[in-house]
Amino acid sequence: MSDNKINKVVIIGSGPAGLTAGIYASRSGLSPLIIEGMESGGQLMTTNDVENFPGFPDGITGPELISNMRKQAEKFGTKFVSGDVTSINLEKRPFTIEIADEKILTKTLIIATGAKARYPEIDSVKKMIGRGVSACATCDGFFFRDKTIFVIGGGDSAMEEAMFLTQFGKTVNVVHRRDELRASKIMQDLARSNKKIKFFYSHTVSEVLGEEEGKVTGIKLKDLKTNEETDYQADGIFFAIGHDPNISFLNRQLEVNGMNYLVSKPDLTATAVEGLYAAGDVSDHFYQQAITAAAEGCKAAIEAEKFLLERNEVN
Ligand code: NAP
Repeated sequence: MSDNKINKVVIIGSGPAGLTAGIYASRSGLSPLIIEGMESGGQLMTTNDVENFPGFPDGITGPELISNMRKQAEKFGTKFVSGDVTSINLEKRPFTIEIADEKILTKTLIIATGAKARYPEIDSVKKMIGRGVSACATCDGFFFRDKTIFVIGGGDSAMEEAMFLTQFGKTVNVVHRRDELRASKIMQDLARSNKKIKFFYSHTVSEVLGEEEGKVTGIKLKDLKTNEETDYQADGIFFAIGHDPNISFLNRQLEVNGMNYLVSKPDLTATAVEGLYAAGDVSDHFYQQAITAAAEGCKAAIEAEKFLLERNEVN
């Protein structure tokens, strides 16, 4: 790989955006190279059941969906290399990317490194992700029909998730660490007027219960005003305390918005840097779905191909 070969398309990230970009770019004969980080496959690797990805009427597990996409990308000639990017130079084309002691050169680059849902640094929370602990109501809400649900957070996402989850849950308890919600007034009003939603203000999560049973059975909450801890029965616990796009490896070389997401041109995945594209959750704080990430990967590959064609750089 350190042979001064200049790739036509390199994709960083192997979630649905990166793999779809790989499928499209390889079918266009661009022989793309995907750099997959240590957390290869992205957030779907920790998603048990995906029931909303079109084409799988009986659902599919996240890892299976990723494995299928990967096979499809490989089938058309996408190559993979493992390792986290240690440095990157976007000042001029070809771009230079270093992973461990390998140097990779490329005419175009698609950044599809995704985002990470924030979870608090609590062991039991981490262990129960995918076993009743989730950060995606759209993905997992369906599994908690007539169950007791907790949503952690006080922002717009928490209100939105709580309202969405009332379609399924018997009760939805919002747990917020302060007395006042951060969410916009309209979202607060909507959530407060929903009879299924109850609020725990000035409370935080101390522990998720159910490790022995292999699924969430309860939640230990701490009242921050009295320091008292109480166990509550729970089936599903949804964290909505924000997401962080995976961009630290870029070393601030690209423009980000106020929430730290990469900025692309309106309706495009092209960024302000020629030949550089951002696809999927790394540039999308709003939809954050596997299907929208895949769609952006497709757009990025088509844009990269057009860019190379226009410059007569496809060969
Ligand atoms: P956010 O606005 O940053 O809110 C995060 C919430 O989680 C805050 O209430 C925060 O508490 C809490 N929190 C953070 N870390 C925590 C921790 N370690 N333990 C407990 N609680 C913690 O994030 P968001 O709700 O995901 O929204 C992100 C952006 O998207 C916002 O600009 C939002 O307006 C927008 N959005 C809009 C809509 C909509 O309009 N329909 C829907 C979703 C998101 P504090 O309040 O104490 O800081």
